[in-house]
Amino acid sequence: MPLGEFELIARYFDRGPAREAILGIGDDCALLAPPSPHCVTAVSTDMLLAGRHFLADDDPATVGHKALAVNLSDLAAMGARPSAFTLALAVPQVDEAWLGGFCAGLFAIADRHGCELVGGDTTRGPTTICITVFGDVPPGAALRRDAAQPDDDLWVSGTLGAAALAVHALGEGRPRSPGDPARMRLDRPEPRVALGLSLRHLARAAIDLSDGLIGDLGHILDRSRVGAEVDWSAVPVDPSLDGLPEPLRRRLALAGGDDYELLFTAAPENRSAIEAIGGRLGLPLARIGRIVAGEGLRLHDARGRPLAVDAHGFDHFA
Ligand code: ADP
Ligand code: MG
Repeated sequence: MPLGEFELIARYFDRGPAREAILGIGDDCALLAPPSPHCVTAVSTDMLLAGRHFLADDDPATVGHKALAVNLSDLAAMGARPSAFTLALAVPQVDEAWLGGFCAGLFAIADRHGCELVGGDTTRGPTTICITVFGDVPPGAALRRDAAQPDDDLWVSGTLGAAALAVHALGEGRPRSPGDPARMRLDRPEPRVALGLSLRHLARAAIDLSDGLIGDLGHILDRSRVGAEVDWSAVPVDPSLDGLPEPLRRRLALAGGDDYELLFTAAPENRSAIEAIGGRLGLPLARIGRIVAGEGLRLHDARGRPLAVDAHGFDHFA
């Protein structure tokens, strides 16, 4: 490497003394201040591989944004407040233009969420980005997948299907241009951190939608040992899907991944409080169904007629 490992770390990743952590980059370990005695640490890791989760010629700022965004989304889904992250990075060579762009995207979203880079590892290899995030949450307020109860309302934030539309267009050989709204949803997902924090003590179970509504709802149902009824006509389908053939529209909205919206359950008595949160955050929250005793997912139309659940969430090993 023309630029040595330590110069690379110093130039791109070490931004001076830690602000929040007791000790950041530069020692054998970072030292994180314990959260308030009433909080526990929420930890999550996500890995992005060139050629699989992004392409080598993707805008590096987009790659930097997305690498942290998907991790922050996991904290959001837990109701945790982001505090710090580590970055394990492999790159085939020191490409300063790529590193500069990557850091610009990475630190912009990190700073917006008050999440500090406190350490990592840097090595030569096929481009791989592995981020571990740390956040704080009072243990009783964490939004766990196993907490849904029969008669809970089922809610989803934002709109669904736009990111999947951008993936679909890519697969058809007609990639959307970088400024296209569907492409923006795929490239620049906005982790719903403020929503997750607002849902503490109001929601019961939550998950972020990385693999599609049906697949991710399935995780809540399995963990909570319950079933669900979903009203397709209440699902907030993104307007970019308007005009598509209905089977494709339904597949993208229900089984397409990468939206990073939050799916959550809450007791019906919290309806007006949850609607108020949506208003305050300027983020639509749609009530799409309910949790029922038993198992399995039943999808129906506006008049209650059953619709086939033929779509599956995305599974890397399927
Ligand atoms: P060690 O050999 O003790 O694992 P390293 O030589 O790998 O330490 O790293 C030196 C310091 O730089 C450590 O504090 C480590 O956390 C930090 N670091 C290494 N790579 C990165 C990176 N990509 N981003 C942030 N910090 C990094
Ligand atoms: Mg190391």
